[in-house]
Amino acid sequence: MLSEKLMAILVCPLGKSELRQEEGALVCVRCGPRFKITHYGYPNLVIEDAELPEGCRSLADLPCQRESKK
Ligand SMILES: [Zn+2]
Repeated sequence: MLSEKLMAILVCPLGKSELRQEEGALVCVRCGPRFKITHYGYPNLVIEDAELPEGCRSLADLPCQRESKK
């Protein structure tokens, strides 16, 4: 588990939304991609490496992504 201090500064790289901690991953509360926590104990926040939520075929489908393009 990541510390509260670290969680407070981590945001979704797309829309700067809050992240929720799940088993082995961080999930954007708004757009839903899963960012895997590496074996070093740090999350990989590279969006290209994230697991997209169901119904999203590409990054362009994510709400945070659309928002950041405005
Ligand atoms: Zn997001």
